Amino acid sequence: MPEYAAENALDAQRDLPEFYWTAETKMNCLKQAVSETRDNAYAHHIQRLMVLGNFALIAGIKPDDVNAWFLGVYADAYEWVELPNVSGMTLFADGGYLASKPYAASGAYINRMSTYCKSCAYKVSQKNGPDACPFNYLYWDFLIRNQDKLGKNPRMGMPYRTLGKMDEAKKQAIIADSQAFFDQI
Ligand code: SF4
Repeated sequence: MPEYAAENALDAQRDLPEFYWTAETKMNCLKQAVSETRDNAYAHHIQRLMVLGNFALIAGIKPDDVNAWFLGVYADAYEWVELPNVSGMTLFADGGYLASKPYAASGAYINRMSTYCKSCAYKVSQKNGPDACPFNYLYWDFLIRNQDKLGKNPRMGMPYRTLGKMDEAKKQAIIADSQAFFDQI
């Protein structure tokens, strides 16, 4: 410190979406996690790391914005523990000083760990298109965007091998769906 607080190893530059404050989103997992946070100034570990944090990671939200949000909304947030958890463990903004890989996940993980997907407007089983779970294409878009920084990480070998086998049309569909999604948040 204080340099650690300014780390942004993945060069994430997107503003925090408004729905982190309003809970107005069709993504049920985020809607519920933000609503419960707003009501209780508390959310459990999976909501923080794998829903709210995972979305911020794969959507490329600025670490400064994400840290300010986590610090502001949780009753148990103190910077000495919040900052390494958010910048290190959640956003990989420290380039791997604390965690050996980014905790990025698609909708399948959220579906395994919760009941949110059952009542969501999006389909967790769908990978592309307007009804697909945004976590599905954003996960691959995150890997494509950060290939130069993460492609050689030994713990990311499996997803990058899968990405390597994807045909160009599929990759273009992922990029197009992600861009359309970013345009409307
Ligand atoms: S389908 Fe996707 S957006 Fe909807 S609750 Fe499941 S993980 Fe979240």
